[in-house]
Amino acid sequence: MSIDKIISLCKRRGFIFQSSEIYGGFGAVYDYGPLGTALKNNISQIWWQAMTQFHENIVGIDSGILMHPKIWEASGHVDAFNDPLVDCKQCKARYPADELFDGNPEDGEWDNIQCPKCGTTGNLTEPRQFNLMFKTHIGSVEKDANVAYLRPETAQGIYVNYLLTQNAMRLKIPFGIAQIGKAFRNEIIARNFIFRTREFEQLEMQYFVKPGDDDQSMRDWKDERMAFYSQLGIDSDKLRLQEHGPDELAHYAKEAWDIEFEFPFGWSEIEGIHNRTNFDLARHQKFSGKKMEVFDQENNEHYLPYIIETSAGLNRMLLAVLSEAYWEDNENNRIVMKFHPRISPVTAAVCPLVKKDGLPEVGRKVMDIVKPHFKVIYDQQGSIGKRYYRQDEAGTPYGITIDHQSLEDKTVTLRHRDSQQQDRVAIDQLVLAINDSMDNYT
Ligand code: ATP
Repeated sequence: MSIDKIISLCKRRGFIFQSSEIYGGFGAVYDYGPLGTALKNNISQIWWQAMTQFHENIVGIDSGILMHPKIWEASGHVDAFNDPLVDCKQCKARYPADELFDGNPEDGEWDNIQCPKCGTTGNLTEPRQFNLMFKTHIGSVEKDANVAYLRPETAQGIYVNYLLTQNAMRLKIPFGIAQIGKAFRNEIIARNFIFRTREFEQLEMQYFVKPGDDDQSMRDWKDERMAFYSQLGIDSDKLRLQEHGPDELAHYAKEAWDIEFEFPFGWSEIEGIHNRTNFDLARHQKFSGKKMEVFDQENNEHYLPYIIETSAGLNRMLLAVLSEAYWEDNENNRIVMKFHPRISPVTAAVCPLVKKDGLPEVGRKVMDIVKPHFKVIYDQQGSIGKRYYRQDEAGTPYGITIDHQSLEDKTVTLRHRDSQQQDRVAIDQLVLAINDSMDNYT
């Protein structure tokens, strides 16, 4: 299945739009329409709940996008957050070095490597470093002293607040801090729809452990994060864990694993799980001159904890969910987005069979009953078959249809999106029936 089909459905049904479309688009930034926003919010809520509600020792924070520029010197991003790139002098194409050469880019014989676009050899430049952080200036004067960066990861906002958070919440090691927020990277080559964009959202959790407990914690988080994706309706066959080789490790990592998903364009990273050691805290201690250690009362000692990080991209999760859900039901000539009902943008559409005979009035009553529990929409436009198919494409798992029998016995039909099966349900049992069906969804 091609990614183009998903892109076109996303635009048609209001999931995702190209940014600034009326001006010809703006590279590698996307806007989320009503259904995309709802789906994205549902996914992030499930993650937030999994982290902060199911773990008594994980709390959430929300730090600023702009932070003290020293933070990015301390973290190493000012010096080391670079992508080596090569340019073709002939056709002006630009590539990440690792796309054309497997290994350390400095060892590549670039004169002998062919440009995949124009096919010439001998025109590639040596790899050059580009910093991926977006720079801006605070205040009205653009001078170096006023430089600030848009954060390229949310993690640093957690590190610089971790002792304040620990004290405020009386947390003991091991504990975690979770954060959802925007991150920005000036990706030179942005592609594959919302997979790699310049502005994106991260779901990050930093887990602070005693040095020595880090390897076990890493193993636990790898298992837990792999298991998480079933809540989003993602099949475990479509996921795999890949370890970073020694030459792929980020400057801060002792051990790193990627959770990869089989996207329509191939296996690619959706989340990283990293053992960041005490690198970041040690650096902040050095650069700020403030103690970053915790105090272990039992052993009467101070130490810098190690950090296991789980860092997922919300937009990549969303793309995985969209790819997994897309189903061409050729037998019935329809496209269905088979979202797990718990994350569908809309849970049910209430449809009076006809616009007369008192059916719309019953429909409105049904809306009032169901609305406090689920996101429901009211639809009385067009033939009932067309309405169902419209909802199938939007991924709405249930259709509630009011017909003439509803007037007599206060029942409606509950239509299930995937099977198209319809059950007769008493109006006052609808919420129960929908909840029950959601719980048993496979
Ligand atoms: P990649 O190798 O794909 O560039 P990365 O290893 O640099 O990713 P991390 O720094 O580990 O990514 O960031 C954690 C997560 O943030 C990634 O797993 C991904 O889901 C998300 N992410 C990173 N960069 C982008 C981007 N440009 N667009 C969308 N999501 C991103």
